[in-house]
Amino acid sequence: MILIIGCNQKTNKPVKEKKQETRQNPVIKRIAELKAAGYEIVDYHAHLKGGLSMEELLDLSKKTGIDYGIAFNAGVGFPITDDVTLLANYNRYKDYPVYIAMQAEGREWVDMFSKENVSTFDYVFTDAMTWTDKKGRRMRLWIPEEVFVDDKDDFMDQLVGKIVGVMEDEPIDMYVNSTFLPEVLQPDYDNLWTNERMDKVINAAIANNIAIEINARYKIPSETFIKRAKAAGSKFSMGTNNTDKNLGTLDYAIEMIDECGLEPNDFFKPVKK
Ligand SMILES: [Zn+2]
Repeated sequence: MILIIGCNQKTNKPVKEKKQETRQNPVIKRIAELKAAGYEIVDYHAHLKGGLSMEELLDLSKKTGIDYGIAFNAGVGFPITDDVTLLANYNRYKDYPVYIAMQAEGREWVDMFSKENVSTFDYVFTDAMTWTDKKGRRMRLWIPEEVFVDDKDDFMDQLVGKIVGVMEDEPIDMYVNSTFLPEVLQPDYDNLWTNERMDKVINAAIANNIAIEINARYKIPSETFIKRAKAAGSKFSMGTNNTDKNLGTLDYAIEMIDECGLEPNDFFKPVKK
């Protein structure tokens, strides 16, 4: 590739410089080092969204060294609402060299799909971004118009209760978009995620053998949370939750490996079925 990097000021002719095909991104370099040291670098929360094809994703994987788990959203209001559509998606993609995941949505999914079909997937995950509060208001926390915060602490206590409930009641391998707060509460993240609240989530994850996602898009959970969870013996996963073609390079998760001293054994490892 020839890049024009400026003009020679005396001759006014373009100055050309030969560059390598891919300029080395420091995160990609760090990913290669981590893999050499025994880490599996997998984005377990990738979606074929925004027109992203499996072929494009595999090309990207070659460039970055990141492996992928492709997740299909299933639940009320999503394209997959029954066993037939659930299995059709699995069968369409199962032979590709990626993990195939079910992203269970809302709280109703447990009764919508058979256990047998759910267990076909390499792993299953959900988040606690969709729930109904004690006044009966169904919220999707990423949509500001659907969020109701009458009192911050009361909201947090309900949220933590929902997260723990999801972990205790739903057969999942991974809790994603971990510790996500609606936009209105994000500036207070560090104050609202008190030690007591963090510990309730961490303890429930460990008790139910559920990995906690380090999410690269939202840059959550905080470093404080991750260090606390590691000290308690929690397992982690890395994920992006892309909404378009831009999958990035797991930058925040890679940064947290170094900042929090995470080791290969601290990470969740599914078995490819
Ligand atoms: Zn997702």
